[in-house]
Amino acid sequence: MKEITCKLLVIGAGPGGYVCAIRAGQLGVDTVIVEMVKPGGTCLNIGCIPSKALIHAADDYAGTVAMAAGRNAMGIKAESPSIDLAKTMAWKDGITGRLTMGVANLLKKAGVKIVMGRAKFRDGKTVEVETETGQQVIRAENIVIATGSAPVELPALPFGGPKSPSGGKVISSTGALSLKEVPQRLAVVGAGYIGLELGIAFAKLGAKVTIVEALDRILPLYDTQLTQPVAKRLAALGIEVFTGTKVKGLSSNGEALLAENGDSQEKRIAADKVLVTVGRKPVTEGWGREELELELDGRYLRIDDQCRTSMRGIYAIGDVTGEPMLAHRAMAQGEMVAEIVAGNRRSWDKRAIPAVCFTDPEIVSVGLSPEEARADGREVKIGQFPFTANGRAMTLSSEDGFVRVVARADNHLVLGIQAVGAGVSELSAAFSLAVEMGARLEDIAGTIHAHPTQSEAFAEAALKGLGHALHI
Ligand code: FAD
Ligand code: NAD
Repeated sequence: MKEITCKLLVIGAGPGGYVCAIRAGQLGVDTVIVEMVKPGGTCLNIGCIPSKALIHAADDYAGTVAMAAGRNAMGIKAESPSIDLAKTMAWKDGITGRLTMGVANLLKKAGVKIVMGRAKFRDGKTVEVETETGQQVIRAENIVIATGSAPVELPALPFGGPKSPSGGKVISSTGALSLKEVPQRLAVVGAGYIGLELGIAFAKLGAKVTIVEALDRILPLYDTQLTQPVAKRLAALGIEVFTGTKVKGLSSNGEALLAENGDSQEKRIAADKVLVTVGRKPVTEGWGREELELELDGRYLRIDDQCRTSMRGIYAIGDVTGEPMLAHRAMAQGEMVAEIVAGNRRSWDKRAIPAVCFTDPEIVSVGLSPEEARADGREVKIGQFPFTANGRAMTLSSEDGFVRVVARADNHLVLGIQAVGAGVSELSAAFSLAVEMGARLEDIAGTIHAHPTQSEAFAEAALKGLGHALHI
């Protein structure tokens, strides 16, 4: 049995954990990180990056299919396009491989020791790890729990299910991101982030996609004005959506997904694969929580504004600490905790955490929606500018959507910014900066936005809020 001591031990090398360890290493903190699968966590291996790679491949393929079918206004022609999904997945794996190797190198460069294996607490200062070469005991002054999250399983549709030549029928996002063939018929349970991002991608790859959502609308996290262009695109792609519908399980022969709507009408959805995307749950088991006295906040680990748990010297960051379960939140928490452990005065002071949904079209939301801003009785000004009036959007053949700015009526302080449209994920940086720096409508309107870009719609939305948009 080997024993090491360190000032900081990080459990889990996802975006929360690895960023925390790199920053701590840069600050000269003696740091060890333990990971039981691969550096990069959910995000780099089975989440953000592989899903965006698949979405990009699906967009390219669908564009070529449209050209081949003569549905291309620019006059571009193509013949008999086809896709080899196994090759697409190999390309995607190449990207994740480069990124995870990059993370391991960054950790080493920062002087962080990486231990591969499952970490388990013995007590509040000691963790044991089963490694390939035997047990390693690590004693640390400070420990960060960054164990992330895992997909929620529905009791009526356990992952795996009946076997077919292409594996289990009921899959999670991890299964969907490693399929070697496009399923002919894909049923998706849950019209949230993953269900819509991957459902749209597989429809573009040629699957007949049907989505079942328990609530009465898609993407319940965003307001209907923002989700309406996505709903329109789902219909254009031939994706059938059953909202207000609950799944009951598979049919007795395993060939169809059974669901029921609010009027107790049964639906039978024939499917080759059933993708269950009904949320993710924090990983609060499997690392010896029973040896500690950690308080929970619902199903998550309770933290304060410095990510301290209820036990001295133990911090928690990322998905294990709650919503929003997003990689950039985990990273920001990780960076903050490294600074605190290094002795710097830091606390969570962010005004907003941007949310981006990589649907077609994409959705971005930073800060408050009009409804949220009005909820506490505040008077607001709303400026909205459509992409139909934006030259760059026209040249991209992507005129659906708009940018919307929400500001206080009295002093024009920007409270929130939202957009829906092709490629608007890249506008999230400008939106976040404006909210974080306390911009007013006049600041955005008074900034020169390059022409021709979609970002001009941002300045125009601010001008609209001030009552004098120029291009509409
Ligand atoms: P994780 O990334 O889950 O990492 C936790 C790590 O801890 C894992 O590597 C795990 O192996 C390790 N671990 C757990 N227990 C132990 C133990 N006992 N010992 C050692 N190691 C342990 N977010 C976005 O912001 N944008 C997106 O576009 C996006 N797309 C997504 C797409 C999909 C399909 C999925 C599933 C998620 C997506 N997310 C996205 C969410 C994002 O992946 C998570 O918010 C993020 O990975 C959370 O980071 P984390 O560090 O908290 O945990
Ligand atoms: P989600 O919370 O986004 O959506 C789950 C959906 O499933 C909801 O609409 C919910 O009403 C529905 N649902 C729940 N139970 C159901 C049932 N029994 N039958 C039918 N529908 C049901 O969850 P997700 O899509 O699994 O994603 C998990 C998390 O991963 C997200 O919340 C997000 O934090 C993260 N993520 C982020 C991105 C991004 O930032 N672009 C992308 C993917 C995932």
